Amino acid sequence: MKKKIKSAITIFINIFILLWKSSKLYFIGMIVTNVIIGLLFSGQMIVWKKIIDAVQTGIIADMILGIIIYLVISIIQNAVDQACQYYKINLSNHTNKYITNKILEKTKNISLKQYGSAGIHDKIKKANEESSGRTMNLLYSAGMLIKGISIFVSTALILISFSVPVMIICLITSVPMLLLGMKIAIKQYEIYNERFENMRFIEHIKNMLTKYENIKEIKVYKVTDYFIKHINKSFDKYIAEDKKIRKKFAFKNTGVAFLENVIIYCVKVAVGIKVILYKMTIGDWTLYISAIDNFKNSISNILSVITTIYEDGLYVNNFFDLMKLNTENNATYKFNTCFKRIVFENVWFKYPEADQYIIKGIDLEIEKGKNYAIVGLNGSGKTTILKLLLRLYVPTKGRILVDDMDIMDIQEDDYYNYVAAVFQDFIKYPVTVRENIALGDINRLEDEYCIKEAAKKSGIYSYISFLKHEFNTQLQMEWTNATELSLGQWQKLAISRALFKNAMIVILDEPTASLDPIAEVEISDNIRTLMEGKTCILIAHRFSTVKLVDNIYVIKNGNIEEFGSHDELMEKNGEYARLYNIQAQGYLN
Ligand code: ADP
Repeated sequence: MKKKIKSAITIFINIFILLWKSSKLYFIGMIVTNVIIGLLFSGQMIVWKKIIDAVQTGIIADMILGIIIYLVISIIQNAVDQACQYYKINLSNHTNKYITNKILEKTKNISLKQYGSAGIHDKIKKANEESSGRTMNLLYSAGMLIKGISIFVSTALILISFSVPVMIICLITSVPMLLLGMKIAIKQYEIYNERFENMRFIEHIKNMLTKYENIKEIKVYKVTDYFIKHINKSFDKYIAEDKKIRKKFAFKNTGVAFLENVIIYCVKVAVGIKVILYKMTIGDWTLYISAIDNFKNSISNILSVITTIYEDGLYVNNFFDLMKLNTENNATYKFNTCFKRIVFENVWFKYPEADQYIIKGIDLEIEKGKNYAIVGLNGSGKTTILKLLLRLYVPTKGRILVDDMDIMDIQEDDYYNYVAAVFQDFIKYPVTVRENIALGDINRLEDEYCIKEAAKKSGIYSYISFLKHEFNTQLQMEWTNATELSLGQWQKLAISRALFKNAMIVILDEPTASLDPIAEVEISDNIRTLMEGKTCILIAHRFSTVKLVDNIYVIKNGNIEEFGSHDELMEKNGEYARLYNIQAQGYLN
Protein backbone atom coordinates (compact mmCIF):
# COMPACT_ATOMS: atom_id res chain seq x y z
CA MET A 1 0.00 0.00 0.00
CA LYS A 2 2.89 2.34 0.94
CA LYS A 3 4.42 1.71 -2.49
CA LYS A 4 1.11 2.40 -4.18
CA ILE A 5 0.64 5.68 -2.30
CA LYS A 6 4.16 6.70 -3.29
CA SER A 7 3.52 5.85 -6.92
CA ALA A 8 0.17 7.73 -6.76
CA ILE A 9 1.94 10.83 -5.45
CA THR A 10 4.58 10.57 -8.19
CA ILE A 11 1.84 10.26 -10.81
CA PHE A 12 0.06 13.34 -9.38
CA ILE A 13 3.23 15.40 -9.44
CA ASN A 14 4.09 14.25 -12.96
CA ILE A 15 0.65 15.14 -14.21
CA PHE A 16 0.79 18.63 -12.76
CA ILE A 17 4.26 19.12 -14.28
CA LEU A 18 2.89 17.89 -17.60
CA LEU A 19 0.01 20.38 -17.50
CA TRP A 20 2.35 23.15 -16.40
CA LYS A 21 4.76 22.42 -19.27
CA SER A 22 1.92 22.28 -21.79
CA SER A 23 0.84 25.85 -21.06
CA LYS A 24 1.76 27.84 -17.97
CA LEU A 25 -0.76 30.62 -18.63
CA TYR A 26 -3.81 28.38 -19.07
CA PHE A 27 -2.75 26.13 -16.21
CA ILE A 28 -2.58 29.05 -13.76
CA GLY A 29 -5.82 30.45 -15.19
CA MET A 30 -7.58 27.15 -14.60
CA ILE A 31 -6.34 26.88 -10.99
CA VAL A 32 -7.22 30.45 -10.05
CA THR A 33 -10.73 30.33 -11.54
CA ASN A 34 -11.49 27.03 -9.80
CA VAL A 35 -10.36 28.38 -6.42
CA ILE A 36 -12.60 31.44 -6.91
CA ILE A 37 -15.60 29.25 -7.85
CA GLY A 38 -15.15 27.22 -4.67
CA LEU A 39 -14.88 30.28 -2.42
CA LEU A 40 -17.90 31.94 -4.02
CA PHE A 41 -19.90 28.78 -3.35
CA SER A 42 -19.30 29.00 0.41
CA GLY A 43 -19.82 32.77 0.31
CA GLN A 44 -23.29 32.13 -1.08
CA MET A 45 -24.06 29.77 1.83
CA ILE A 46 -23.22 32.48 4.38
CA VAL A 47 -25.24 35.14 2.49
CA TRP A 48 -28.16 32.71 2.34
CA LYS A 49 -28.02 32.37 6.17
CA LYS A 50 -28.13 36.18 6.48
CA ILE A 51 -31.18 36.34 4.18
CA ILE A 52 -33.03 33.72 6.28
CA ASP A 53 -32.12 35.54 9.50
CA ALA A 54 -33.34 38.86 8.00
CA VAL A 55 -36.65 37.22 6.98
CA GLN A 56 -37.03 35.71 10.46
CA THR A 57 -36.33 39.02 12.23
CA GLY A 58 -38.40 40.99 9.69
CA ILE A 59 -35.67 43.47 8.60
CA ILE A 60 -36.64 44.15 4.98
CA ALA A 61 -33.56 46.25 4.12
CA ASP A 62 -31.19 43.43 5.26
CA MET A 63 -33.20 40.92 3.31
CA ILE A 64 -33.06 42.98 0.09
CA LEU A 65 -29.35 43.70 0.56
CA GLY A 66 -28.71 39.97 1.12
CA ILE A 67 -30.57 39.03 -2.07
CA ILE A 68 -28.66 41.68 -4.08
CA ILE A 69 -25.32 40.34 -2.77
CA TYR A 70 -26.48 36.78 -3.55
CA LEU A 71 -27.37 37.89 -7.09
CA VAL A 72 -24.01 39.62 -7.59
CA ILE A 73 -22.16 36.49 -6.40
CA SER A 74 -24.21 34.38 -8.83
CA ILE A 75 -23.32 36.68 -11.72
CA ILE A 76 -19.62 36.66 -10.83
CA GLN A 77 -19.76 32.90 -10.40
CA ASN A 78 -21.15 32.49 -13.88
CA ALA A 79 -18.51 34.76 -15.43
CA VAL A 80 -15.69 32.94 -13.61
CA ASP A 81 -17.16 29.64 -14.69
CA GLN A 82 -17.02 30.74 -18.33
CA ALA A 83 -13.41 31.90 -17.90
CA CYS A 84 -12.62 28.54 -16.33
CA GLN A 85 -14.09 26.68 -19.33
CA TYR A 86 -12.05 28.88 -21.64
CA TYR A 87 -8.81 28.08 -19.81
CA LYS A 88 -9.65 24.41 -19.63
CA ILE A 89 -10.33 24.01 -23.37
CA ASN A 90 -7.17 25.88 -24.30
CA LEU A 91 -5.11 23.94 -21.81
CA SER A 92 -6.55 20.69 -23.13
CA ASN A 93 -5.56 21.58 -26.73
CA HIS A 94 -2.08 22.56 -25.64
CA THR A 95 -1.67 19.38 -23.61
CA ASN A 96 -2.81 17.26 -26.53
CA LYS A 97 -0.31 18.99 -28.80
CA TYR A 98 2.46 18.65 -26.21
CA ILE A 99 1.86 14.92 -25.68
CA THR A 100 1.59 14.18 -29.42
CA ASN A 101 4.83 16.02 -30.12
CA LYS A 102 6.65 14.32 -27.28
CA ILE A 103 5.50 10.84 -28.33
CA LEU A 104 6.47 11.35 -31.97
CA GLU A 105 9.82 12.86 -30.99
CA LYS A 106 10.46 9.86 -28.77
CA THR A 107 9.46 7.24 -31.32
CA LYS A 108 11.83 8.91 -33.79
CA ASN A 109 14.71 7.96 -31.50
CA ILE A 110 13.66 4.43 -30.66
CA SER A 111 16.01 1.97 -32.35
CA LEU A 112 14.87 -0.83 -34.64
CA LYS A 113 16.22 -3.23 -32.03
CA GLN A 114 13.85 -1.74 -29.44
CA TYR A 115 11.01 -1.87 -31.97
CA GLY A 116 11.66 -5.60 -32.23
CA SER A 117 9.81 -6.44 -29.00
CA ALA A 118 6.04 -6.63 -28.53
CA GLY A 119 6.39 -4.70 -25.26
CA ILE A 120 7.47 -1.52 -26.96
CA HIS A 121 4.46 -1.62 -29.29
CA ASP A 122 2.16 -1.94 -26.28
CA LYS A 123 3.94 0.96 -24.64
CA ILE A 124 3.70 3.23 -27.67
CA LYS A 125 0.09 2.34 -28.34
CA LYS A 126 -0.87 2.85 -24.70
CA ALA A 127 0.87 6.20 -24.64
CA ASN A 128 -0.60 7.17 -27.99
CA GLU A 129 -4.15 6.08 -27.41
CA GLU A 130 -4.71 6.69 -23.77
CA SER A 131 -2.57 9.67 -22.94
CA SER A 132 -4.43 12.38 -24.84
CA GLY A 133 -7.95 11.23 -23.92
CA ARG A 134 -7.02 10.54 -20.33
CA THR A 135 -5.26 13.86 -20.00
CA MET A 136 -8.49 15.57 -20.98
CA ASN A 137 -10.21 13.68 -18.16
CA LEU A 138 -7.37 14.68 -15.89
CA LEU A 139 -7.81 18.31 -16.78
CA TYR A 140 -11.46 18.13 -15.89
CA SER A 141 -10.65 16.25 -12.70
CA ALA A 142 -7.86 18.66 -11.75
CA GLY A 143 -10.33 21.54 -12.04
CA MET A 144 -12.86 19.63 -9.92
CA LEU A 145 -10.17 18.83 -7.36
CA ILE A 146 -9.14 22.46 -6.94
CA LYS A 147 -12.76 23.58 -6.71
CA GLY A 148 -13.46 20.73 -4.26
CA ILE A 149 -10.51 21.70 -2.04
CA SER A 150 -11.65 25.31 -2.08
CA ILE A 151 -15.20 24.30 -0.97
CA PHE A 152 -13.74 21.82 1.54
CA VAL A 153 -11.59 24.47 3.25
CA SER A 154 -14.32 27.10 3.40
CA THR A 155 -17.05 24.71 4.66
CA ALA A 156 -14.56 23.23 7.17
CA LEU A 157 -14.05 26.74 8.58
CA ILE A 158 -17.84 27.17 8.93
CA LEU A 159 -18.10 23.79 10.72
CA ILE A 160 -15.12 24.53 13.01
CA SER A 161 -16.87 27.72 14.05
CA PHE A 162 -19.75 25.48 15.13
CA SER A 163 -17.99 22.33 16.48
CA VAL A 164 -14.58 20.75 15.80
CA PRO A 165 -15.71 17.13 16.61
CA VAL A 166 -18.53 17.40 14.04
CA MET A 167 -15.97 18.36 11.40
CA ILE A 168 -13.64 15.48 12.40
CA ILE A 169 -16.42 12.86 12.33
CA CYS A 170 -17.48 14.01 8.88
CA LEU A 171 -13.87 13.71 7.75
CA ILE A 172 -13.20 10.23 9.16
CA THR A 173 -16.40 8.67 7.82
CA SER A 174 -15.21 9.37 4.27
CA VAL A 175 -12.03 7.28 4.49
CA PRO A 176 -13.48 3.78 3.80
CA MET A 177 -15.05 5.01 0.57
CA LEU A 178 -11.68 6.41 -0.55
CA LEU A 179 -9.94 3.10 0.06
CA LEU A 180 -12.63 1.19 -1.79
CA GLY A 181 -12.45 3.62 -4.72
CA MET A 182 -8.69 3.16 -4.97
CA LYS A 183 -9.05 -0.61 -4.87
CA ILE A 184 -11.51 -0.51 -7.77
CA ALA A 185 -9.20 1.75 -9.79
CA ILE A 186 -6.21 -0.54 -9.28
CA LYS A 187 -8.24 -3.60 -10.25
CA GLN A 188 -9.44 -1.91 -13.43
CA TYR A 189 -5.91 -0.96 -14.37
CA GLU A 190 -4.68 -4.52 -13.81
CA ILE A 191 -7.42 -5.78 -16.12
CA TYR A 192 -6.51 -3.17 -18.72
CA ASN A 193 -2.88 -4.32 -18.67
CA GLU A 194 -3.78 -8.00 -18.83
CA ARG A 195 -5.97 -7.47 -21.85
CA PHE A 196 -3.89 -4.90 -23.63
CA GLU A 197 -1.97 -7.03 -26.11
CA ASN A 198 -5.10 -8.96 -27.09
CA MET A 199 -7.09 -5.71 -27.46
CA ARG A 200 -4.28 -4.34 -29.64
CA PHE A 201 -4.49 -7.53 -31.71
CA ILE A 202 -8.28 -7.13 -32.08
CA GLU A 203 -7.81 -3.52 -33.14
CA HIS A 204 -5.19 -4.61 -35.66
CA ILE A 205 -7.52 -7.28 -37.08
CA LYS A 206 -10.35 -4.72 -37.36
CA ASN A 207 -8.11 -2.36 -39.31
CA MET A 208 -6.80 -5.19 -41.45
CA LEU A 209 -10.34 -6.33 -42.34
CA THR A 210 -11.43 -2.83 -43.37
CA LYS A 211 -8.32 -1.66 -45.20
CA TYR A 212 -8.99 -0.86 -48.84
CA GLU A 213 -6.05 -2.80 -50.26
CA ASN A 214 -6.96 -5.92 -48.26
CA ILE A 215 -10.63 -6.11 -49.24
CA LYS A 216 -10.06 -8.22 -52.37
CA GLU A 217 -8.24 -11.03 -50.56
CA ILE A 218 -10.62 -10.91 -47.62
CA LYS A 219 -13.59 -11.38 -49.95
CA VAL A 220 -12.06 -14.19 -51.97
CA TYR A 221 -11.03 -16.22 -48.91
CA LYS A 222 -14.12 -15.15 -46.87
CA VAL A 223 -11.98 -14.76 -43.78
CA THR A 224 -14.12 -12.20 -41.92
CA ASP A 225 -16.31 -14.77 -40.10
CA TYR A 226 -13.26 -16.59 -38.76
CA PHE A 227 -11.93 -13.40 -37.22
CA ILE A 228 -15.36 -12.33 -35.90
CA LYS A 229 -15.53 -15.65 -34.02
CA HIS A 230 -12.07 -15.05 -32.60
CA ILE A 231 -12.92 -11.49 -31.52
CA ASN A 232 -16.26 -12.52 -29.97
CA LYS A 233 -14.58 -15.23 -27.92
CA SER A 234 -12.38 -12.59 -26.30
CA PHE A 235 -15.24 -10.16 -25.77
CA ASP A 236 -17.50 -12.81 -24.17
CA LYS A 237 -14.72 -13.72 -21.75
CA TYR A 238 -14.17 -10.08 -20.81
CA ILE A 239 -17.91 -9.37 -20.36
CA ALA A 240 -18.23 -12.34 -17.98
CA GLU A 241 -15.18 -11.24 -15.97
CA ASP A 242 -16.41 -7.64 -15.74
CA LYS A 243 -19.84 -8.72 -14.51
CA LYS A 244 -18.29 -10.70 -11.65
CA ILE A 245 -15.98 -7.88 -10.58
CA ARG A 246 -18.70 -5.21 -10.80
CA LYS A 247 -21.09 -7.28 -8.69
CA LYS A 248 -18.48 -7.76 -5.98
CA PHE A 249 -17.67 -4.08 -5.79
CA ALA A 250 -21.34 -3.02 -5.93
CA PHE A 251 -22.05 -5.00 -2.73
CA LYS A 252 -19.05 -3.55 -0.91
CA ASN A 253 -19.93 -0.04 -2.05
CA THR A 254 -23.53 -0.30 -0.81
CA GLY A 255 -22.36 -1.53 2.62
CA VAL A 256 -19.84 1.28 3.09
CA ALA A 257 -22.32 3.97 1.92
CA PHE A 258 -24.98 2.63 4.38
CA LEU A 259 -22.66 2.94 7.38
CA GLU A 260 -21.49 6.39 6.34
CA ASN A 261 -25.08 7.67 6.00
CA VAL A 262 -26.16 6.33 9.41
CA ILE A 263 -23.27 8.14 11.15
CA ILE A 264 -23.83 11.43 9.31
CA TYR A 265 -27.58 11.51 10.12
CA CYS A 266 -26.75 10.91 13.79
CA VAL A 267 -24.41 13.93 13.58
CA LYS A 268 -27.24 16.00 12.06
CA VAL A 269 -29.53 15.07 14.97
CA ALA A 270 -26.79 16.22 17.37
CA VAL A 271 -26.44 19.52 15.49
CA GLY A 272 -30.23 20.04 15.67
CA ILE A 273 -30.21 19.44 19.45
CA LYS A 274 -27.38 21.98 19.94
CA VAL A 275 -29.15 24.62 17.79
CA ILE A 276 -32.33 24.17 19.90
CA LEU A 277 -30.51 24.15 23.26
CA TYR A 278 -28.42 27.22 22.43
CA LYS A 279 -31.45 29.01 20.90
CA MET A 280 -29.72 29.67 17.60
CA THR A 281 -31.51 31.10 14.54
CA ILE A 282 -33.09 29.18 11.63
CA GLY A 283 -30.39 30.77 9.50
CA ASP A 284 -27.74 29.10 11.70
CA TRP A 285 -29.51 25.73 11.45
CA THR A 286 -29.69 25.98 7.62
CA LEU A 287 -26.06 27.11 7.42
CA TYR A 288 -24.66 24.27 9.56
CA ILE A 289 -26.76 21.52 8.01
CA SER A 290 -25.88 22.67 4.48
CA ALA A 291 -22.24 23.08 5.65
CA ILE A 292 -22.24 19.40 6.75
CA ASP A 293 -23.78 18.32 3.43
CA ASN A 294 -21.44 20.45 1.35
CA PHE A 295 -18.41 19.49 3.46
CA LYS A 296 -19.27 15.80 3.00
CA ASN A 297 -19.97 16.33 -0.69
CA SER A 298 -16.71 18.17 -1.13
CA ILE A 299 -14.83 15.30 0.57
CA SER A 300 -16.55 12.66 -1.52
CA ASN A 301 -16.01 14.81 -4.62
CA ILE A 302 -12.34 15.26 -3.75
CA LEU A 303 -12.01 11.54 -3.05
CA SER A 304 -13.77 10.47 -6.19
CA VAL A 305 -11.76 13.00 -8.18
CA ILE A 306 -8.55 11.70 -6.57
CA THR A 307 -9.61 8.18 -7.50
CA THR A 308 -10.35 9.28 -11.06
CA ILE A 309 -7.08 11.18 -11.25
CA TYR A 310 -5.26 8.16 -9.90
CA GLU A 311 -6.99 5.90 -12.41
CA ASP A 312 -6.38 8.23 -15.36
CA GLY A 313 -2.89 8.84 -14.03
CA LEU A 314 -2.09 5.12 -14.23
CA TYR A 315 -2.90 5.26 -17.93
CA VAL A 316 -1.08 8.55 -18.52
CA ASN A 317 1.84 6.96 -16.71
CA ASN A 318 2.42 4.99 -19.91
CA PHE A 319 3.35 8.28 -21.47
CA PHE A 320 5.85 8.98 -18.70
CA ASP A 321 7.19 5.42 -19.04
CA LEU A 322 7.70 5.93 -22.74
CA MET A 323 9.48 9.21 -22.09
CA LYS A 324 11.79 7.44 -19.65
CA LEU A 325 12.74 4.79 -22.23
CA ASN A 326 16.45 5.00 -22.84
CA THR A 327 17.06 5.94 -26.46
CA GLU A 328 20.36 7.58 -25.84
CA ASN A 329 22.90 7.42 -28.58
CA ASN A 330 26.37 8.31 -27.56
CA ALA A 331 27.86 8.48 -31.04
CA THR A 332 29.71 11.75 -31.44
CA TYR A 333 31.50 11.63 -34.78
CA LYS A 334 30.36 13.06 -38.10
CA PHE A 335 30.27 10.89 -41.19
CA ASN A 336 33.48 11.24 -43.18
CA THR A 337 32.25 12.11 -46.67
CA CYS A 338 35.76 11.49 -48.08
CA PHE A 339 35.73 7.85 -46.94
CA LYS A 340 37.42 5.28 -49.14
CA ARG A 341 35.73 2.08 -48.12
CA ILE A 342 33.24 0.47 -45.78
CA VAL A 343 34.41 -2.82 -44.32
CA PHE A 344 32.55 -5.59 -42.48
CA GLU A 345 35.15 -7.13 -40.19
CA ASN A 346 34.21 -10.64 -39.03
CA VAL A 347 30.61 -9.56 -38.41
CA TRP A 348 28.27 -11.89 -36.54
CA PHE A 349 24.67 -11.06 -35.86
CA LYS A 350 21.58 -12.53 -34.22
CA TYR A 351 18.29 -10.69 -33.77
CA PRO A 352 17.30 -9.59 -30.26
CA GLU A 353 15.82 -12.46 -28.30
CA ALA A 354 16.77 -14.93 -31.06
CA ASP A 355 19.10 -17.89 -30.45
CA GLN A 356 20.59 -18.40 -33.86
CA TYR A 357 23.13 -16.33 -35.69
CA ILE A 358 21.77 -15.03 -39.00
CA ILE A 359 25.10 -13.53 -40.08
CA LYS A 360 28.04 -15.77 -39.33
CA GLY A 361 31.36 -13.99 -39.39
CA ILE A 362 31.34 -12.19 -42.71
CA ASP A 363 34.16 -10.05 -44.11
CA LEU A 364 32.96 -7.73 -46.81
CA GLU A 365 34.34 -4.62 -48.47
CA ILE A 366 32.50 -1.82 -50.21
CA GLU A 367 34.61 0.69 -52.08
CA LYS A 368 33.41 4.22 -52.50
CA GLY A 369 31.76 4.95 -55.85
CA LYS A 370 31.34 1.31 -56.88
CA ASN A 371 28.25 -0.83 -57.39
CA TYR A 372 27.62 -4.02 -55.48
CA ALA A 373 24.95 -6.67 -55.69
CA ILE A 374 24.09 -9.14 -52.96
CA VAL A 375 22.44 -12.34 -54.12
CA GLY A 376 21.32 -15.49 -52.38
CA LEU A 377 18.27 -17.53 -51.50
CA ASN A 378 15.42 -16.22 -49.34
CA GLY A 379 16.37 -16.08 -45.70
CA SER A 380 20.11 -16.24 -46.40
CA GLY A 381 20.66 -12.89 -44.62
CA LYS A 382 20.87 -10.32 -47.44
CA THR A 383 18.44 -7.77 -45.94
CA THR A 384 20.03 -8.26 -42.55
CA ILE A 385 23.39 -7.20 -44.01
CA LEU A 386 21.73 -4.02 -45.33
CA LYS A 387 20.12 -3.33 -41.95
CA LEU A 388 23.54 -3.61 -40.32
CA LEU A 389 25.03 -1.35 -42.95
CA LEU A 390 22.22 1.12 -42.28
CA ARG A 391 23.19 1.06 -38.61
CA LEU A 392 19.71 -0.10 -37.66
CA TYR A 393 21.18 -2.94 -35.61
CA VAL A 394 24.50 -3.34 -33.83
CA PRO A 395 26.57 -6.40 -34.83
CA THR A 396 26.58 -9.01 -32.06
CA LYS A 397 30.29 -9.59 -32.74
CA GLY A 398 32.76 -7.87 -35.07
CA ARG A 399 32.71 -4.35 -36.48
CA ILE A 400 31.59 -2.36 -39.47
CA LEU A 401 34.12 0.32 -40.30
CA VAL A 402 33.93 3.42 -42.45
CA ASP A 403 37.65 3.66 -43.12
CA ASP A 404 38.90 3.45 -39.51
CA MET A 405 35.77 4.54 -37.74
CA ASP A 406 33.22 2.13 -36.27
CA ILE A 407 29.88 2.86 -37.91
CA MET A 408 28.26 2.87 -34.46
CA ASP A 409 30.44 5.84 -33.44
CA ILE A 410 28.97 7.97 -36.24
CA GLN A 411 25.99 10.13 -35.28
CA GLU A 412 22.89 8.40 -36.62
CA ASP A 413 21.34 11.65 -37.81
CA ASP A 414 24.45 12.71 -39.67
CA TYR A 415 24.95 9.29 -41.28
CA TYR A 416 21.42 9.35 -42.70
CA ASN A 417 22.14 12.67 -44.41
CA TYR A 418 24.27 10.70 -46.88
CA VAL A 419 22.28 7.49 -47.24
CA ALA A 420 19.17 6.72 -49.29
CA ALA A 421 17.36 3.40 -49.29
CA VAL A 422 14.53 1.72 -51.16
CA PHE A 423 13.19 -1.10 -49.00
CA GLN A 424 11.09 -4.05 -50.11
CA ASP A 425 8.31 -2.80 -47.88
CA PHE A 426 8.69 0.88 -48.75
CA ILE A 427 6.14 3.30 -47.31
CA LYS A 428 3.17 4.46 -49.32
CA TYR A 429 2.68 7.91 -47.82
CA PRO A 430 -0.94 9.14 -47.86
CA VAL A 431 0.07 12.54 -49.30
CA THR A 432 0.54 13.99 -52.80
CA VAL A 433 2.84 12.58 -55.48
CA ARG A 434 5.09 15.60 -55.02
CA GLU A 435 5.42 15.04 -51.27
CA ASN A 436 5.96 11.31 -51.78
CA ILE A 437 9.06 12.12 -53.82
CA ALA A 438 10.17 15.16 -51.82
CA LEU A 439 10.06 13.21 -48.55
CA GLY A 440 13.47 11.94 -49.65
CA ASP A 441 14.73 15.38 -48.67
CA ILE A 442 11.74 17.37 -47.43
CA ASN A 443 13.68 20.63 -47.14
CA ARG A 444 13.64 20.72 -50.94
CA LEU A 445 9.85 20.35 -51.28
CA GLU A 446 9.80 23.34 -53.63
CA ASP A 447 12.55 21.98 -55.88
CA GLU A 448 10.21 21.38 -58.82
CA TYR A 449 12.98 20.59 -61.31
CA CYS A 450 14.65 17.85 -59.25
CA ILE A 451 11.32 16.30 -58.27
CA LYS A 452 10.45 15.96 -61.95
CA GLU A 453 13.93 14.66 -62.81
CA ALA A 454 13.66 11.99 -60.11
CA ALA A 455 10.26 11.00 -61.49
CA LYS A 456 11.65 10.82 -65.02
CA LYS A 457 14.57 8.62 -63.98
CA SER A 458 12.35 6.07 -62.23
CA GLY A 459 9.97 6.07 -65.21
CA ILE A 460 6.84 7.33 -63.37
CA TYR A 461 6.85 10.81 -64.92
CA SER A 462 4.69 10.03 -67.97
CA TYR A 463 1.99 8.48 -65.79
CA ILE A 464 1.95 11.45 -63.39
CA SER A 465 1.64 13.93 -66.28
CA PHE A 466 -1.46 12.06 -67.33
CA LEU A 467 -3.17 12.63 -63.93
CA LYS A 468 -5.56 15.59 -63.60
CA HIS A 469 -3.64 17.20 -60.75
CA GLU A 470 -0.28 15.85 -61.86
CA PHE A 471 2.27 16.13 -59.04
CA ASN A 472 -0.39 17.50 -56.71
CA THR A 473 -2.49 14.34 -56.91
CA GLN A 474 -3.37 12.99 -53.47
CA LEU A 475 -2.58 9.28 -53.16
CA GLN A 476 -4.38 6.37 -51.46
CA MET A 477 -8.07 5.73 -51.89
CA GLU A 478 -8.94 6.18 -48.21
CA TRP A 479 -8.69 9.96 -48.62
CA THR A 480 -10.88 12.52 -50.42
CA ASN A 481 -10.16 13.12 -54.13
CA ALA A 482 -7.36 10.59 -54.05
CA THR A 483 -6.03 8.18 -56.66
CA GLU A 484 -4.51 4.77 -56.14
CA LEU A 485 -1.33 3.60 -57.83
CA SER A 486 -0.38 0.08 -58.78
CA LEU A 487 2.33 -1.58 -56.67
CA GLY A 488 4.85 -1.11 -59.46
CA GLN A 489 4.00 2.59 -59.73
CA TRP A 490 4.41 2.96 -55.97
CA GLN A 491 7.77 1.27 -56.25
CA LYS A 492 8.81 3.77 -58.94
CA LEU A 493 7.81 6.57 -56.56
CA ALA A 494 9.94 5.00 -53.83
CA ILE A 495 12.88 4.87 -56.26
CA SER A 496 12.24 8.54 -57.20
CA ARG A 497 12.33 9.40 -53.50
CA ALA A 498 15.74 7.76 -53.12
CA LEU A 499 17.05 9.44 -56.27
CA PHE A 500 15.72 12.82 -55.16
CA LYS A 501 17.73 12.59 -51.97
CA ASN A 502 20.90 12.65 -54.04
CA ALA A 503 22.70 10.61 -51.39
CA MET A 504 26.26 9.37 -51.43
CA ILE A 505 25.34 5.78 -50.54
CA VAL A 506 22.25 4.19 -52.08
CA ILE A 507 20.82 0.94 -50.78
CA LEU A 508 18.29 -0.89 -52.90
CA ASP A 509 16.49 -3.95 -51.54
CA GLU A 510 14.85 -5.54 -54.57
CA PRO A 511 13.97 -2.20 -56.15
CA THR A 512 12.49 -3.76 -59.27
CA ALA A 513 10.51 -6.59 -57.68
CA SER A 514 7.11 -5.11 -58.54
CA LEU A 515 8.00 -3.50 -61.84
CA ASP A 516 6.75 -4.67 -65.23
CA PRO A 517 9.39 -6.18 -67.55
CA ILE A 518 9.79 -2.96 -69.53
CA ALA A 519 10.21 -0.77 -66.45
CA GLU A 520 12.57 -3.32 -64.97
CA VAL A 521 14.75 -3.32 -68.08
CA GLU A 522 14.68 0.49 -68.12
CA ILE A 523 15.80 0.74 -64.50
CA SER A 524 18.28 -2.13 -64.79
CA ASP A 525 19.84 -0.79 -67.98
CA ASN A 526 20.10 2.63 -66.43
CA ILE A 527 21.27 1.49 -63.05
CA ARG A 528 24.88 2.41 -63.82
CA THR A 529 23.87 5.88 -64.97
CA LEU A 530 21.38 6.34 -62.13
CA MET A 531 23.98 5.40 -59.57
CA GLU A 532 26.92 7.16 -61.21
CA GLY A 533 29.26 8.66 -58.63
CA LYS A 534 27.38 6.91 -55.83
CA THR A 535 28.17 3.87 -53.77
CA CYS A 536 25.33 1.48 -54.50
CA ILE A 537 24.44 -1.78 -52.79
CA LEU A 538 21.66 -3.71 -54.37
CA ILE A 539 19.76 -6.86 -53.51
CA ALA A 540 18.12 -8.42 -56.54
CA HIS A 541 16.68 -11.78 -57.47
CA ARG A 542 16.59 -11.10 -61.17
CA PHE A 543 19.95 -11.91 -62.65
CA SER A 544 19.30 -9.62 -65.61
CA THR A 545 19.77 -6.76 -63.11
CA VAL A 546 22.53 -8.41 -61.07
CA LYS A 547 24.53 -9.04 -64.24
CA LEU A 548 24.98 -5.32 -64.77
CA VAL A 549 26.60 -4.72 -61.38
CA ASP A 550 30.42 -4.80 -61.14
CA ASN A 551 30.84 -6.68 -57.88
CA ILE A 552 28.62 -9.47 -56.67
CA TYR A 553 28.54 -11.04 -53.21
CA VAL A 554 26.81 -14.41 -53.02
CA ILE A 555 25.40 -15.10 -49.55
CA LYS A 556 24.52 -18.57 -48.30
CA ASN A 557 23.27 -19.24 -44.77
CA GLY A 558 24.76 -16.05 -43.38
CA ASN A 559 28.17 -16.58 -45.00
CA ILE A 560 29.81 -15.12 -48.07
CA GLU A 561 29.97 -18.01 -50.47
CA GLU A 562 31.47 -16.23 -53.49
CA PHE A 563 32.58 -12.83 -54.69
CA GLY A 564 33.37 -11.47 -58.15
CA SER A 565 31.93 -10.02 -61.33
CA HIS A 566 29.22 -11.82 -63.28
CA ASP A 567 31.72 -13.23 -65.77
CA GLU A 568 34.13 -14.37 -63.06
CA LEU A 569 31.39 -16.06 -61.09
CA MET A 570 29.98 -17.77 -64.17
CA GLU A 571 33.41 -19.05 -65.01
CA LYS A 572 33.83 -20.35 -61.48
CA ASN A 573 30.65 -22.36 -62.01
CA GLY A 574 29.73 -22.33 -58.31
CA GLU A 575 26.59 -21.23 -56.40
CA TYR A 576 26.09 -18.06 -58.48
CA ALA A 577 26.29 -19.95 -61.77
CA ARG A 578 23.90 -22.56 -60.37
CA LEU A 579 21.28 -19.94 -59.40
CA TYR A 580 21.77 -18.05 -62.66
CA ASN A 581 21.32 -21.17 -64.74
CA ILE A 582 18.17 -22.22 -62.84
CA GLN A 583 16.61 -18.84 -63.63
CA ALA A 584 17.83 -18.80 -67.22
CA GLN A 585 16.57 -22.34 -67.72
CA GLY A 586 13.14 -21.28 -66.53
CA TYR A 587 12.98 -18.62 -69.23
CA LEU A 588 14.29 -20.92 -71.98
CA ASN A 589 11.84 -23.69 -71.16
P1 ADP B 1 16.93 -12.33 -47.04
O1 ADP B 1 16.94 -10.86 -47.22
O2 ADP B 1 18.16 -12.99 -47.49
O3 ADP B 1 15.72 -12.98 -47.63
P2 ADP B 1 16.74 -11.67 -44.24
O4 ADP B 1 18.04 -11.05 -43.99
O5 ADP B 1 15.56 -10.80 -44.37
O6 ADP B 1 16.84 -12.66 -45.48
O7 ADP B 1 16.41 -12.71 -43.07
C1 ADP B 1 17.36 -13.67 -42.66
C2 ADP B 1 16.78 -14.46 -41.50
O8 ADP B 1 16.58 -13.59 -40.40
C3 ADP B 1 15.42 -15.08 -41.79
O9 ADP B 1 15.45 -16.42 -41.35
C4 ADP B 1 14.44 -14.28 -40.99
O10 ADP B 1 13.43 -15.09 -40.49
C5 ADP B 1 15.29 -13.72 -39.86
N1 ADP B 1 14.79 -12.39 -39.44
C6 ADP B 1 14.62 -11.33 -40.24
N2 ADP B 1 14.20 -10.27 -39.52
C7 ADP B 1 14.09 -10.68 -38.24
C8 ADP B 1 13.71 -10.05 -37.01
N3 ADP B 1 13.37 -8.75 -36.95
N4 ADP B 1 13.72 -10.78 -35.88
C9 ADP B 1 14.09 -12.09 -35.92
N5 ADP B 1 14.47 -12.75 -37.04
C10 ADP B 1 14.46 -12.05 -38.19
